[in-house]
Amino acid sequence: MAKIKGESRARKKGSNLKACRECHSLVEGEVCPSCQSGALSEDWSGYLVIVDPLKSEIAKIMGIKRPGKFALKVR
Ligand SMILES: [Zn+2]
Repeated sequence: MAKIKGESRARKKGSNLKACRECHSLVEGEVCPSCQSGALSEDWSGYLVIVDPLKSEIAKIMGIKRPGKFALKVR
């Protein structure tokens, strides 16, 4: 696993973002639009933004194949 420095809590008050336990996508609704999973967690920390998954080493390590926002840790 990659060590990512500068991790911080990204949650805003009033924001309803949840992280998908399956693919770590940050989701606003009740179902992950990426993998259709309903296994979402409100307990997550840190996020990264993938702009170009093909050029990102972190995306490769995390198995991310599409652009978007992803939680680093999902509990
Ligand atoms: Zn998902």
